Amino acid sequence: MAPPGIKGRFLVFALFVIALFLFVRLESHRAPPGQLSPIEQAKKKPASGPSLTGHAIAPKLGNATAKAELGRAAWKVLHTTFARFPEKPTPDEKEALRSYVHLFQRLYPCGECAEHFGKVLAKYPPQVSSRSAASMWGCMVHNIVNKRLKKPEFNCENIGDAYDCGCGDDDTKDTSKKEEGA
Ligand SMILES: Cc1cc2nc3c(=O)[nH]c(=O)nc-3n(C[C@H](O)[C@H](O)[C@H](O)COP(=O)(O)OP(=O)(O)OC[C@H]3O[C@@H](n4cnc5c(N)ncnc54)[C@H](O)[C@@H]3O)c2cc1C
Repeated sequence: MAPPGIKGRFLVFALFVIALFLFVRLESHRAPPGQLSPIEQAKKKPASGPSLTGHAIAPKLGNATAKAELGRAAWKVLHTTFARFPEKPTPDEKEALRSYVHLFQRLYPCGECAEHFGKVLAKYPPQVSSRSAASMWGCMVHNIVNKRLKKPEFNCENIGDAYDCGCGDDDTKDTSKKEEGA
């Protein structure tokens, strides 16, 4: 058995080594002065999400009938979304609509349509400041697609009436509770 003095010194030495190891590890995570540490950076970063801009994801949609049916349904969803967007949206709601439109474009199931619509969005980014702005913007970009496909121009002054789905404006935000009782 080792004398108590040696045992004690070994213990102190072991503690010193552990402390040194911990110090070196902490130092490696510390950012240089004026810069955020990786942990601070991770805290500041917004929740990572899909990339809003980039190549169209779906393949080419060759079937003309399917393309037209899809288009009618898609425009209906888009215009109705704008018609039911708040007149005074919060910053979060504005960001939600902006992201939605961009992802709608990237993932649109007709690849060649998405590719072209991406160029339209690059030139005319979604207007999300209010319901009226979003609706007018939707009408305008639909007209750009109409023009390209040699379809008649839609009169955007009528956009409010055209997409009044008759759904009614429910003031209560908590729709889940209402549905339970329905
Ligand atoms: C984002 C997107 C991109 C597309 N790109 C292509 C493409 O590159 N090539 C292709 O072949 N097809 C494309 N389509 C489909 C195309 O736009 C039409 O939906 C399809 O050709 C059917 O046309 P439609 O004449 O039935 O009327 P749609 O254009 O589908 O319109 C449906 C209805 O919306 C109303 N409407 C028309 N114009 C407007 C407007 N400006 N604002 C509001 N309401 C309006 C009218 O009542 C019309 O009957 C795209 C669709 C979408 C949603």
